[in-house]
Amino acid sequence: MESQKFAQELIDFIYKSPTAFHAVDSVGKILLACVYKEIFENESWKLKKEGKYFMMKNSSAVIAFHLGRGELVEEGFRIIAAHTDSPCFRVKPSPEIVSEDAYLKLNTEVYGLPILNTWLDRPLAIAGRITLKGNNLMKPITKLVNINRPILIIPNLAIHMNRNMNTGIALNEQKDLLPVVGLINDNLQKDNFMLKLISQELKVNIGEILDFDLFLYEFEKGSLIGINNEFISCSRLDDLAMVHAGIIAMTKVGSSKATKVMVCFDNEEVGSSTKQGAGSPMLAQLLERITISMTLDREAYFRTLSNSFLISADLAHALHPNTPEKADPINRPIINKGPVIKISARQSYTSDSFSVGVYESICKKAGVPVQKFVNRSDERGGSTIGPISSQHLDINAVDIGSPIIAMHSIRELAGVEDHLMTEKSFEEFYKS
Ligand SMILES: [Zn+2]
Repeated sequence: MESQKFAQELIDFIYKSPTAFHAVDSVGKILLACVYKEIFENESWKLKKEGKYFMMKNSSAVIAFHLGRGELVEEGFRIIAAHTDSPCFRVKPSPEIVSEDAYLKLNTEVYGLPILNTWLDRPLAIAGRITLKGNNLMKPITKLVNINRPILIIPNLAIHMNRNMNTGIALNEQKDLLPVVGLINDNLQKDNFMLKLISQELKVNIGEILDFDLFLYEFEKGSLIGINNEFISCSRLDDLAMVHAGIIAMTKVGSSKATKVMVCFDNEEVGSSTKQGAGSPMLAQLLERITISMTLDREAYFRTLSNSFLISADLAHALHPNTPEKADPINRPIINKGPVIKISARQSYTSDSFSVGVYESICKKAGVPVQKFVNRSDERGGSTIGPISSQHLDINAVDIGSPIIAMHSIRELAGVEDHLMTEKSFEEFYKS
């Protein structure tokens, strides 16, 4: 079945993408295989009409674009935006902590807003980026590392030691959530444990390691589940599912009149206010540089923006089978019933009747059903990249996403059909 095959491709993509750095690396590999050319921020760009390019930022964000065959000003940009990061734990500097002369633990801090208890009693691994000394001290070398072995666990307390366990307990981030990495013995040297592990993994001397950005992730691979394999149970679906759907749609659609853009920002889960986040000028500058490269002036750039459209693609909440009362009484997205348009009176989503109308028409043309999400009036709901991006880029935009259950759990639950339907809607958007 096409949808199950595509869902399995998503699971494989996420497995190869344990951190934002690796997600960008995975995206880069897909783009290179489709003859997209990597270009760099510090170079002068000589872009060709109908050319396919991508630019990375901080190795954790990426923008891919395929120049259209039509006039840039008239046709505008067709942009899909998603994010590469997911809630998790970040390893602190000098992370080794010895507990009771017996256990070696790692000091970590929480990144974003994970459902903390879902991280307990699960085999965990470590991945991220390492910065090494280079010849130029202003330009150190960075390398990705993925220690893809179940080397860590955050153990629960026995229920006999806390009889309130099943009526809700508060987990302290500094006390209850530090992962155990082993028992102290002759073979496990606690001093510089982390640096030694990295040096072995990368086959470099400890002295070469300047610093690291390391994160914990779930060791287990995602899977299709349900009696008819209708669900995807996997880590980091938020928002790698939309990164995957966007990149695949972009590479599948050939030449179009408009210029196709897929932007994958980092740091959405911590507010987007980094140089590689949606709160930065990264996307606006890239779009302006495309215009300059086409030998157009600044007015032409602003005219191009007014003819452009942005889909902010981040996952949406589906109705929960055990807690349906948390959803709006009328607008209740269901798994495998199609992508969801997100709407909010407080404008925490960019959607308005104009942009909703555009996306609905795209879905109709693609033969894809579409659903709507609004928060219950007494619930605040989350935030996403669309409104943050709008602060830097004045473009008509809509917020959408595939529906999922258990958002921010270590294993989120999505629908096999939804993933393909959302991708089909993206293809139609890029063709329009
Ligand atoms: Zn998200």
